[in-house]
Amino acid sequence: MENPLYIVQCWIEHPVRRLDQTFTYLSTQEVQPGMRVQVDFNGRKLIGFVEDCQPSSQSEEELQQASPFELKHISAVLDREPLLTDELRQLADWLSRTTLATHIACYQCMLPAKIKPVSHAGRAVQERWVSCADTETSLTPRQLEAFLYVRQQGSVRYQELRKHFPNQAKALVDLGALQVTLRDREAENLSSPIVSQPLQLNAEQQAAMQEIEQSSDAVYLLHGVTGSGKTEVYLQLAQKVLEQDRQVLILVPEIGLTPQMIDRVRQRFGVDLAIYHSALSAQEKYEQYRKVKTGRASVVVGTRSAVFLPFTNLGLIVMDEEHDSSYKQEVQPSYHCRDVAIWRGAYHHCKVILGSATPSLESYARGLKQVYHLITLKHRINDCLPEIELVPLKKTMARGESYILTETLKQRMAETLARQEQIILLLNRRGYSTQLRCLACKQVLLCPHCDLALSYHRSERLLKCHACGSQMAAPKACPYCGSTAGFSTYGFGTEKLEAAVKQAFPAARVIRMDADTTARKDAHRKLLEAFGRHEADILLGTQMISKGLDYPDVTLVGILNGDDGVSHTDYRSCETTFDLLMQASGRSGRSEHRGRVVLQVFDPDHYVVQCAVHQNYDLFFRREMQFRHAGQYPPYTYLISLTIVSRDQKKADQSALFLKEHLQASDYKTVGVISLGRLQDRCRNRIFLKGKNLERMREDVRALLKQPETAARLGDVRIDVEPMTLD
Ligand code: ADP
Ligand code: ZN
Ligand code: ZN
Repeated sequence: MENPLYIVQCWIEHPVRRLDQTFTYLSTQEVQPGMRVQVDFNGRKLIGFVEDCQPSSQSEEELQQASPFELKHISAVLDREPLLTDELRQLADWLSRTTLATHIACYQCMLPAKIKPVSHAGRAVQERWVSCADTETSLTPRQLEAFLYVRQQGSVRYQELRKHFPNQAKALVDLGALQVTLRDREAENLSSPIVSQPLQLNAEQQAAMQEIEQSSDAVYLLHGVTGSGKTEVYLQLAQKVLEQDRQVLILVPEIGLTPQMIDRVRQRFGVDLAIYHSALSAQEKYEQYRKVKTGRASVVVGTRSAVFLPFTNLGLIVMDEEHDSSYKQEVQPSYHCRDVAIWRGAYHHCKVILGSATPSLESYARGLKQVYHLITLKHRINDCLPEIELVPLKKTMARGESYILTETLKQRMAETLARQEQIILLLNRRGYSTQLRCLACKQVLLCPHCDLALSYHRSERLLKCHACGSQMAAPKACPYCGSTAGFSTYGFGTEKLEAAVKQAFPAARVIRMDADTTARKDAHRKLLEAFGRHEADILLGTQMISKGLDYPDVTLVGILNGDDGVSHTDYRSCETTFDLLMQASGRSGRSEHRGRVVLQVFDPDHYVVQCAVHQNYDLFFRREMQFRHAGQYPPYTYLISLTIVSRDQKKADQSALFLKEHLQASDYKTVGVISLGRLQDRCRNRIFLKGKNLERMREDVRALLKQPETAARLGDVRIDVEPMTLD
């Protein structure tokens, strides 16, 4: 009998789209799907992911004769066990189909860098462990003590042994009494004593719990204003799942912004917790990954990439702040964490809870249509919403007040400081420098076709609409009031705000948080902790301070440029501005003191502003859905955006036109070509498809890009299926 022969199908680590298929190799050794192998591909050594391995009933000669090309043997098997479970391979397949990314791009995105399929990624850090060898040696009493210490535990980290027995460890190894093995370094244990007990749920929370527990639905949308006790509901659901020995995944938008969630989980369960987010080093990620894979961690708190961790026995997925845009990955595979969470929930037969005070329109619409099971918490735990004061900037500026700190805001700040309570000042500055505002009537210049703000491209001195591609020179006179006073961007940043605050309140202690002050690792957390200890009176910053903060002493939130986003350049800008206003005002008055919010805006009558002032999500939802319907934007339609990136303007133009010509169908509209201007010396041209039949749109894009001639001609095409923004 000859050696057995196997036919192996594998995906090749190669970024080119047209190679997104499995290739056939031979092997004399059986390999399992999900393992990596090394193969020769056109003379290059590449890594392959095994998709399938079957014993061959034919001999190698017979196979070679039947094959149109020479079949090669795999060069090496790289893993002892599969890296990817069956579930994760199925998930990659689904991800590739829905996001139009290659399989290999999906694998790369799903695995931590240390093991992802790129040959040059470093190896995991290893540690020395010792165990007792099977030899007879004569030992000193102290050496014997060390030897027994190891034997009692089976195996011990060499470093640990040296700490306890500094003079014996090395000798025991040299004598051969202990043998050394290398193991991947493991994450430190993140369990801690249980210091918090479940709270007695109020009636609303209890009803929500029961509804979730008694229903057999898979996906729940828990809609509750900030401070309504959603987190407490998550924790109590999680507790029951942990009691059944199943795993819990809690997804949060950005780990740096939600240290409080980690603390609450840790204090409640005391379990070994895994934390997974993009700020971890490759090694740290790998360690956390191992912890989940080996089942050591029963609870994971993480950002969007945590949704790919190798859970074996998932019992609950919670996605907090489900509307947050950081859950969407913009580069390939352009997945949305929510979709992956729901996929995995279905696989593990576990419930998925989406929580938010301001659900995305998509999710809320699904909630109303009962695709998701909608549950609402109407009241704050302390039953006390903050009082919101509107400051109309057009009027106050006409009176000669500063557009940074108005008199109203200054007065409220003075009162708050006098009571020794704390203040948060939020500067809303979404793309402020790219819009033009008339100096006379304060109106932002809008696209005549889209009702979205035109974006000003300084270098070309052109106004462009990112939604329809119209472009024009900046007008001499304002199209709304006719004034020739000119246009301004009213740009001011956090530094200028800080200066204004210090001038008005020289004695106040101020912490400024922005990209500059938080560049160093952990700076963000340290600044927030200092504010939490009341080492400062005022915290000021951009969007990054609006989310998740829960400080009892904060009783005033000032929002500057509050409606800056409503005339922004994107179809979703009203939604994000509304979220921001609701989130930010939710920071005020979270404990026994009543909170206040001062909201400075240009257009106090805008529905975004009005709905935020009245904390009325449902009204906002209805108004915004009308706008989306009129413009046929999501959730009424689906979008696929295709961006051509090239150093060569001519090539970028040709490619975009080619795409536009070849992606035409009666099912959908093809919009563009939209020139997005240069970024890092690369020209960017976009077209997008808009229609109700997403599958058809995907199919057309996939078919076009699969053709070898097309792929070669187009160069770098970035595909975003269901983009969160067109900006
Ligand atoms: P959300 O997640 O909706 O913002 P939280 O769960 O953070 O709300 O609750 C807001 C505050 O109310 C927290 O300080 C929390 O400890 C407290 N809280 C929540 N539920 C209860 C309860 N049933 N009884 C007393 N306090 C509660
Ligand atoms: Zn004007
Ligand atoms: Zn337009």
